[in-house]
Parts: sequence; structure tokens; C-alpha cells
Amino acid sequence: MIIDCHGHYTTAPKALEDWRNRQVAGLKDPARTPSPAELKISDDELRESIEQNQLRKMRERGSDLTIFSPRASFMAHHIGDFNTSATWAAICNELCHRVARLFPDHFIGAAMLPQSPAVDIRSCIPELERCVRDYGFVGINLNPDPSGGHWTSPPLSDRYWYPLYEKMVEHDIPAMVHVSTSCNACFHTTGAHYLNADTTAFMQCLTSDLFSDFPRLRFVIPHGGGAVPYHWGRFRGLAQELKKPLLKDHLLNNIFFDTCVYHQPGIDLLTKVIPVDNILFASEMIGAVRGIDPETGFAFDDTQRYIAAAPLLSTEDRHKIYEGNARRVYPRLDAALKAKGM
Ligand SMILES: [Zn+2]
Repeated sequence: MIIDCHGHYTTAPKALEDWRNRQVAGLKDPARTPSPAELKISDDELRESIEQNQLRKMRERGSDLTIFSPRASFMAHHIGDFNTSATWAAICNELCHRVARLFPDHFIGAAMLPQSPAVDIRSCIPELERCVRDYGFVGINLNPDPSGGHWTSPPLSDRYWYPLYEKMVEHDIPAMVHVSTSCNACFHTTGAHYLNADTTAFMQCLTSDLFSDFPRLRFVIPHGGGAVPYHWGRFRGLAQELKKPLLKDHLLNNIFFDTCVYHQPGIDLLTKVIPVDNILFASEMIGAVRGIDPETGFAFDDTQRYIAAAPLLSTEDRHKIYEGNARRVYPRLDAALKAKGM
């Protein structure tokens, strides 16, 4: 079985974006604020948006199940206040839940949180619990920078985040550390901000003792871990300077990397540097990079080809990357599959 731990609903019917545009317009002119009930998307529209897109490509490429969360760049936690984010997150999560209900063999949800800059992180817990309890979601996306590229929140190791971590541990769900759109002109959203955030999140964990406080807390760092695998020696050296334990003991019981690296040399490096137990298959399809690589003739984001061709991986390694590790990092996913006899 091939589990893709990183998919977003990037292909939602246009009515969703229209509703969001009205919500944003309502921040200036409250009379224009739409109610959630004004968003009407039928099951047929949902089905079509998935069958023609993500599910079609999953079938072409041979992946079975995608952990599916709202479109990351649309989270835009910097817009409006907590109520803006709360309404928006509830709508986006419900759509992912409906997709998972329509295609239960192929999609299972992960939640967007209603984060808002400088707002107590406890405000996100009711939506998290609703998604786990009512929707059967198996993870969350945690935005370390809800300001959208200005980094006004404390680091992930700060006690600010601890109430959320307590809930994650209680419900045994991991977080994918995932920023949203950049509203800082210096940082391109998917080319710079995302990779910066992946690297930054790792370093915030490295300099702290977060996982001593939360030994069962788990983060998936997407996009292949940003710059981390490539600079593994720098990070090992910095940890040594800081008198931290070896990274395998300090961080690798808690931090995992996905395979959203869009060329073979990148995957070869990832699988050479990072232990196979810490790598989870993902494509982030349909996402930031949708084109065909002229050097290979295949889609950049068809990451299964790179895993299949990675010279260092055994059959057993590939099984871990495709399925075993995801079941371990997302125990609720494992339980949901086992309940179906899988
Ligand atoms: Zn993503």
C-alpha cells in the first residue's frame, strides 16, 4: 500500500475561493460578510474536483491513500482575526471531511487550525478536537508563522505552543509543520517561505529540549525537510557545539521528513542522509510544482519514481517509506486502516 502523507485540497470548486473573497471583503465592509451557509458545494462538484485531479493522478501513479488537508496557501492565518480564521478553518476542514467520506478508501483528513497571530494557541483546540472526534482526522497542519512571513510568533519550542502539544499527545496525532502564503515580498510562498519554515522549524527544535518535555510529540517536516538533509553535517555540528545529544537521540524519535523533493538527486541525498525510519512518502500533489520535468519527461511531483529508483533503498526500506512509517507516525490512520482489515 502506498500512503501519501501530504495532499491538499487545491482543486476545490471555485465557490470556495469566492466565499473566501467575500469573507475578506467583509473585513472592511461587514455588510458583505457571508455566512458559512451561503457556501453551497454539492457532492457531485466535490466528486468531480477530486476524480479529475488528485484521484486520477493517484490511480495513474499507483498511490492508494492520501492524508488530505485544506489548501495550505489558502490558510492565510494573517488575514483578519481569530473569528475569521475559525470560520474559514471550519469550512475548509469540513470540505476535506466530505471528500474523505465520498472516497473513504483514498482520502483521510488532516486539519487546518484556526490560528491567528498573537492569539492564544488554546483557541485552536476546539477545532482540532472536532476534527479528530467528528471527522476522524488523523493529523493537523501547524503553522509556525501565522503572520505569513514576518515571524512574529515565538519559536515552536516556546511554552506558548504547549497547550496544543498536550492535546496532540492526548489524541496521538502528529503535526505537519506547514506555513501558509507569504505576505512578505522577500519570500516567495512555495519557493522560499515554505523551505525557510521547514529549516527554521527543525532548528527551533534542535536548540531546545522540546522533546524532553514531550517525548511522544511528533512533527512531520514537509518538502523533504527544507535545507536540513543537505546540511545535516552543519546541524550535527551545531548540536555538538550546543552540548545537545546526537541528533538521532535528540530529534529523530520525534521529527520525520516527507519526500516532496522534486528530483532524483534530492531523494538520493535524503535517503542517504536521513534514516529510512524517518522518511514518509509524499508528493504534495496537486500542489506548487505541476509541470513536466523536461529532463525526465515525467511530472516533477511524481515522487514515486524517485523512491522507486533510489539506489540505496531495499524493498523493506520502500515499504517503510510508503506505508510502515506513516502507520507509526499517524496511529489514528493505522487504527482506521486496521478497522477496515487493512
Ligand atoms: Zn503542503
